[in-house]
Amino acid sequence: MSITTGIGWDCHRLVEGRRLILGGVEIEHDRGLDGHSDADVLCHAVTDALLGAAGLGDIGQHFPDDDPRWEDADSVALVRHTANLLVAEGWGVTSVDTTVLMERPRIAAHREAMRATLAGALGISSQRVNVKATTGEGMGFIGRQEGVGALAVATIARG
Ligand code: MG
Repeated sequence: MSITTGIGWDCHRLVEGRRLILGGVEIEHDRGLDGHSDADVLCHAVTDALLGAAGLGDIGQHFPDDDPRWEDADSVALVRHTANLLVAEGWGVTSVDTTVLMERPRIAAHREAMRATLAGALGISSQRVNVKATTGEGMGFIGRQEGVGALAVATIARG
């Protein structure tokens, strides 16, 4: 049995006139994340963690941000596409742990929906997907609400 882990990090700028979508779940807020796709920073971190665990490069190689196919894309599709890529190489996703770095709003009310959405895209139980959140304590770009960050660790196994 081969077991590996991968790490993912992403951040996007908070701007007016965009929807705030995290882990495939739309969250009511006066601003949203800017980007080529739907800018779902949590899905992007999970995608990078999966690719990292499998030694398959990074999200920019698989989903270039100048590719019209991914313009305003639902980033849950990126997670699903990547999970399928891993399955095709014989990998199974064991677990995914994540942390969202955001000053506000609080995401506690949306946590279970995010877990379920990510787990559905990964093809695993939501018990194996964890979503944590923390603030920037008023410091840096997170604390000043200029952007949102997300970290993810994926553990995968085969054989
Ligand atoms: Mg991104």
